[in-house]
Amino acid sequence: MTTALVLIIVALALAALVVVGRRSRRDQAGSSGARAFARKQFRISWPPGYAHRVPLRTESNSSGTYVVEKFPSRSSALDVLRGCDVRDERVYLIGETPEGNIGRDLVWIFEEQNGSFIEIAERTPLPEPVYSQTDCAHCGYTVLPMGDPGLSVDGPMTASYLLVSSDVERAGQGFECEQCGALGCMHCYLRTSDDVEATPDRRCWLCQGHMLPFVE
Ligand SMILES: [Zn+2]
Ligand SMILES: [Zn+2]
Repeated sequence: MTTALVLIIVALALAALVVVGRRSRRDQAGSSGARAFARKQFRISWPPGYAHRVPLRTESNSSGTYVVEKFPSRSSALDVLRGCDVRDERVYLIGETPEGNIGRDLVWIFEEQNGSFIEIAERTPLPEPVYSQTDCAHCGYTVLPMGDPGLSVDGPMTASYLLVSSDVERAGQGFECEQCGALGCMHCYLRTSDDVEATPDRRCWLCQGHMLPFVE
């Protein structure tokens, strides 16, 4: 009698496992876009739970990869894009709306039609700083190198004096630690300091070393 009861319980538990397994596989099959960008390891995140409910469309061409989603209104698209993170270059989240399409990339939220600027895309900090030679230690976003400032300068310290913080932020650029080589993006320095422009003594998130313009 007891043995039979145990067997019934085991059988029910197995049945439950089968149902759960099938359902999660079906969910995966339904979100082909999510699978596509997971396979390519694009570092995109949506607001918690969002991408599990909605199928995503992914398109790639020579200028990048576009993850496209429909929204009922511009404000709902803006809400979701503001809650996303896009940590890689040349990856674009596009929100299609009846009031025109908007997008988010590494640094901006923009009008898709002409690429015009709407606002700086906020970056979610990592739970703790992580060392990388390509990404900001504080937020994990790719840091793009600064170009030649186009001036005759004596060294990187002189060049950094001429930098305009908002321009550097809008270009997705940042700094490199002269001690350990870790990177830090301008966005994170602007968000964690009251007056970076007046006191440009930026320190490494990991070792407190001096940060120099990341030029490479
Ligand atoms: Zn950062
Ligand atoms: Zn350092």
